[in-house]
Amino acid sequence: MLAVSESGFYGNFGGAYIPEMLHPNVEELKNNYLEIIQSPSFQEEFLSLLKDYVGRPTPLYYASRLSEKYNTNVYLKREDLCHTGAHKVNNTIGQILLAKRLGKKRIIAETGAGQHGVATATICALMGLECEVFMGKIDVARQKPNVERMKMLGAKVIEAVSGSQTLKDATNDAMRDWINNPVDTYYVIGSVVGPHPYPDMVARFQAVISEEIKKQLAEKTGKENPDYILACVGGGSNAAGAFYHFAENSEVKLIGLEAAGKGVDTGESAATTLLGKEGVLHGSRSLVMQTPDGQVVEPYSISAGLDYPGIGPVHAYLFASGRGKYFPVTDEEAMEAGLQLSRLEGIIPAIESSHALAYLEKLNAKPEEVVVVNLSGRGDKDLATYIKWIEDHKS
Ligand SMILES: *Cc1c(COP(=O)(O)O)cnc(C)c1O
Repeated sequence: MLAVSESGFYGNFGGAYIPEMLHPNVEELKNNYLEIIQSPSFQEEFLSLLKDYVGRPTPLYYASRLSEKYNTNVYLKREDLCHTGAHKVNNTIGQILLAKRLGKKRIIAETGAGQHGVATATICALMGLECEVFMGKIDVARQKPNVERMKMLGAKVIEAVSGSQTLKDATNDAMRDWINNPVDTYYVIGSVVGPHPYPDMVARFQAVISEEIKKQLAEKTGKENPDYILACVGGGSNAAGAFYHFAENSEVKLIGLEAAGKGVDTGESAATTLLGKEGVLHGSRSLVMQTPDGQVVEPYSISAGLDYPGIGPVHAYLFASGRGKYFPVTDEEAMEAGLQLSRLEGIIPAIESSHALAYLEKLNAKPEEVVVVNLSGRGDKDLATYIKWIEDHKS
């Protein structure tokens, strides 16, 4: 387990650094979330939706051709097979069920690439709740298909037109909306970021990933613990979910892969553990990519889901304590790994997930060892990027 303190800290990281006006909303959540989500009736409804709506448990697949290539045993946790194509839906189901039990009628969310917006709009449609998604104007323009999806699912997409018109500004607008509508509105955050209790709550909802891995590995190998778990880290929710039930077992090496973009020294990356400094972002203290005077740096990655200038406080803690290891993976390494998985296993991964796969090249696992790679999502959304990459790299 990745335990958070009463006040929401993992070591030095976490907490709730929020404007005074947001306190009542966050307090309400903090005072109620554990009791609600641990209640038998919540668990029953949550697990039943994960099973029949999302399609859980997702398979743990022994990738034999990939294993042969790296002379070890590689298992893929198939979050790409979740309804909506990624792990994000595990969390949106959890939070929206919680919102309903808190008596909320209206759901808001922020989204960058649109993946979290789509997962939120999906569950609002399922539950008949009003849904408004804040998205930077520039992101609306460059993520058209996800904007259309959200609208088709009945959500309203609200353009954030201030600042750089991207995720940061959408987040600010969502916070402002929440301050103005404290009674009837619930704010769904899409990763293990934001003020306490969000990081802990999201980690708990995603922990179903490691719970399943344990059972499935025991069935397949007779041992519930792998030697390594690899997962990509944007904000860090799929990684937190994949690490969760292994964190206290030091034999299991936890490895997070961050986007190095065009290279960690190029100024175009999102390699937060390598380049970030302590600071406050989106309401919690963590590692943040920033200038010496504390301006948040615009991140870059070829994968929209990893294009984030911070990491969740739980990862800052795992990194600082040495319990987790974090490595940068470039666009090029990720794209090659994604193309390789497509050809070797017939699985086209999300480019985010390709970052985790790419690290197999450097891991040097032994023939008898077991490596689990969390395949956070499928690549359908990324086809245009893969196709362009192939065109541009024809020799
Ligand atoms: C959003 C996303 C990510 C990154 O988010 P985390 O919170 O770090 O998991 C990774 N993979 C996919 C497929 C995503 O959609």
